[in-house]
Order: sequence, then structure tokens, then C-alpha cells
Amino acid sequence: MTDRLLLVLATRNQGKTREIQGLLRGFPVEIKNLDDFGPIPEVEEDGATFDDNAYKKAAFTAKVLGLPALADDSGLEVEALGGAPGVHSARYAGPSATDADNNAKLLRDMEGKTDRAASFACVISVAVPSGVALTYEGRCEGLIAEVPAGDNGFGYDPLFYYPPLDRTFAQLSAEEKNQVSHRAKALAGLKEEFDKVLTWIRQHF
Ligand code: IMP
Repeated sequence: MTDRLLLVLATRNQGKTREIQGLLRGFPVEIKNLDDFGPIPEVEEDGATFDDNAYKKAAFTAKVLGLPALADDSGLEVEALGGAPGVHSARYAGPSATDADNNAKLLRDMEGKTDRAASFACVISVAVPSGVALTYEGRCEGLIAEVPAGDNGFGYDPLFYYPPLDRTFAQLSAEEKNQVSHRAKALAGLKEEFDKVLTWIRQHF
């Protein structure tokens, strides 16, 4: 029987942890998150790209704990705004901005713009303590709506209109969103190769 490998998720978010645990059920891996390890220093998410931030979080956690670690970073990129809010998605309207503040700023910035194309992106990084890492990316294309619609989801979901389903992400059920979202696609890439990822971790750890 293969030994189960311990993999730390570089997050304290229980929702994310459950989602990834569910997805990797059946693989010889034990998933923990930062809450299982008590206080460790926070990583500053000051990278220029989602890749930079995901790698920074995964590599830092792997180094500090001496264990393989997985991190994700995600956000919204709007074409007419040159890719903004991008890595600043969580704090677009300011350091303590709420989702409502961020959505209000996005609508103001998009006033009068006819090109409404946007995409959500998610990068997952799996790192070992020496710092080497594997990366998975998922993207989902849509349009910025003129007015918010729907109450589900979080973040920019009420403004992210997804043409194939003719609704915003906030009008989709969690199951529907999980079929098509940027995060689901990045996780699907990871899951597809997870046997190889485990071999790679064992070789580099
Ligand atoms: P993080 O990767 O969890 O730090 O998320 C960064 C920010 O991107 C979030 O605070 C949201 O504003 C935005 N974001 C990321 N994924 C989604 C999504 O699926 N729906 C809506 N907003 C999202």
C-alpha cells in the first residue's frame, strides 16, 4: 500500500479546503490547511501576476512548514481596463473594500465602454520546500454586465455575464458555476495529472 502524502493548502478558507479535499478524494494524499499548524507569518500578495502570487504563497508555506504545499490565486481581468483589476481584484476599491465597493467601482470604470469582454483567471501552484513548483491555470471568458444580477457566489459574480448560459455567475447554482469556472478548470487540470503530481512531489521532497 502507498503511504499517504501530506499536502498543506496555503489557505485558512474552509470552503476552498473542502472543495479541494472533495476533489482529491481517492488519491493517497492527506490534505491539511494553515489552521492545522497554528500561527505562521502571512505572505504579502504583492506579485505582478496570478502566477507570482500563487507561487509565492505555495513556496513560502512549503518552506516554513517543511511540507509540500498548494496555493491558488485568482481574479478578474477586463479588456477595456487593460487587464484591471487583475491581481488587485480583492482590493480594487481600496485596502478594506467589500465586494459591493469593488463592483460599484467596476461599474463606474466601465461607464460608456462598449468593449465589455472580461475573463476570470485562476492559477494553482504546488511547491516543495526547496522552492520548485508545478503550475495549473484555468480561465473563463465572459462580459461585464451593465447592471448587477443574482445573489449567489461572491466577488464580481453579479457583474460577470456568462454568454453560454445566458446568466451572470451570481445567477448560477454552485453546481453550475463549478462546471465552468476558472477555479474548476485549474483544479480539473491538477486532478487529471494528480498521480504524476504525487510522483513529482515524492521525487523532489
Ligand atoms: P483570491 O484568489 O481568493 O485571493 O481571490 C481574489 C479576488 O478575485 C476575490 O476577492 C474576488 O474579488 C475575485 N474573484 C476570484 N474568483 C472569483 C469568482 O469565482 N467570482 C467572483 N469573484 C472572484
